Amino acid sequence: MGILKVARMGHPILREVAAELDAEEIATPAFQDFVDSMIATMHEYDGAGLAAPQVHVSKRVVVMELANNPRYPDAPGVPLTVIVNPRIHFMTEDRIDVVEGCLSIPDLRGVVPRVAEIELEALDREGNAIRGRFKGFPAAVVQHECDHLDGVLYVDRVSDPKTLSFLREFERYHAVPELPN
Ligand code: ZN
Repeated sequence: MGILKVARMGHPILREVAAELDAEEIATPAFQDFVDSMIATMHEYDGAGLAAPQVHVSKRVVVMELANNPRYPDAPGVPLTVIVNPRIHFMTEDRIDVVEGCLSIPDLRGVVPRVAEIELEALDREGNAIRGRFKGFPAAVVQHECDHLDGVLYVDRVSDPKTLSFLREFERYHAVPELPN
């Protein structure tokens, strides 16, 4: 299928609750093809993650990868991960403020308080059970992507709308300069 078209905020599919996949559907070549296309699309647009509703498919599938991403140069690494039918468990009451963006809301940034540590239970692209702990920015990415499966966008969770900024203005006025080392 190749690179997929990304739905932008306002498209109704981004507000739907996506459907779970069953083992039969996961095993189909069409689903494996779709996952490959999601990965290609995430790479094309330098996303840290992508949820299926963002490419007009209302199914509970997320891909994520945090490595050498020019949009998030300081993020800790997470290898390419395919997440099907995720369940998130909050492991702490602590919240961290995360500057978020979204391929469905181009060129905008906003600060979202996210749970600082989570455990993820899901299936991988072959339908095998997977489980993992995420802290900090990677935990925020998992929460952001899984929110898409419930029709929630990060702008819904921005606690102070004054933190909303276009990317260019964010880089000019809000980005924290890196310390010399
Ligand atoms: Zn998003």
